[in-house]
Amino acid sequence: MDLKTKMMISIIVPCLNEEEVLPLFYQTLEVLIPDLGTEIEYIFVDDGSTDRTLDVLKIYREKNPAVHYISFSRNFGKEAAIYAGLQQASGDLVVVMDADLQDPPSLLLEMKELLDQNPDLDCVGTRRTSREGEPFLRSFCADFFYRFMQKISPVALPSGVRDFRMMRRSVVDAVLELTEYNRFSKGLFAWVGFRTHYLEYPNVERQAGKTSWSFRQLFFYSIEGIVNFSDFPLILAFVAGLSSCFLALVMTLFVVVRTLVLGNPTSGWTSLMAVILFLGGVQLLTIGILGKYISKIYMETKKRPLYLIKEQSES
Ligand code: UDP
Ligand code: MG
Repeated sequence: MDLKTKMMISIIVPCLNEEEVLPLFYQTLEVLIPDLGTEIEYIFVDDGSTDRTLDVLKIYREKNPAVHYISFSRNFGKEAAIYAGLQQASGDLVVVMDADLQDPPSLLLEMKELLDQNPDLDCVGTRRTSREGEPFLRSFCADFFYRFMQKISPVALPSGVRDFRMMRRSVVDAVLELTEYNRFSKGLFAWVGFRTHYLEYPNVERQAGKTSWSFRQLFFYSIEGIVNFSDFPLILAFVAGLSSCFLALVMTLFVVVRTLVLGNPTSGWTSLMAVILFLGGVQLLTIGILGKYISKIYMETKKRPLYLIKEQSES
């Protein structure tokens, strides 16, 4: 038998309230799959949806044994959903893609082709080259985040990188070994290394439904990314502490000399307040940064499961 026909691709799809777009997603993939020329399995992860997402998935499961679903007991976040999907996936190649068709399914063919033809390539990832259709502030901040990450983190995170990727089993097994609670998938995929080729494509807007990320959530998500993959903020705190010590020394010298030369006039309230406020600010900021890392340690030591399953399709 031809080896190729024995291969299987697992397609992991995290879903949070996607009842509107799922039919379109499923139909598009069903049309495309014969072209892939391999057996596939779908692993839909219902991340605590409050709409009819799970019902839709159950209907697909009844019609198609290649459909598998896992339903969480509540919303655990996309990162947990991806991890659950990776654990369930049994394919030789594994794909992670969004349900909203922002990840162009046609790229799957290109990804598989690349992996077939380059045995030394382990993963094909994707990057957005534009962010058309996105609010300006959002894309500006996202761009800034990637640049900043690149500067401060030892793992290379290409600008605009998406979770959408196709990877070999070796990469999946490596990512599964990272069982940390604070997950930032883009960073984890970069951290495990392996040879990754990035396909580029312009932004595609969500086909239906609406994004579950508010600007506030994205902001905190980017802080997660920074704290999880870099100790730069700690270094910043250290540098701030060091420079304020230096500044304090210079100021002390200045004040002492001035008192010796000019006597001890009681003026100087303004500069005193400025120094107190500045140092107070630096101290609070530093404590805040420390606190962020301590909270990470706290969550890690609890060793809580990353997600809880309410129900899942029988395999
Ligand atoms: N998603 C999820 N859990 C969450 C948030 C999102 O499983 O807590 C899924 C969502 O259903 C979609 C994908 O992650 O398939 C990307 O989400 P979304 O389109 O809302 O994000 P954006 O594309 O705006 O970054
Ligand atoms: Mg989306």
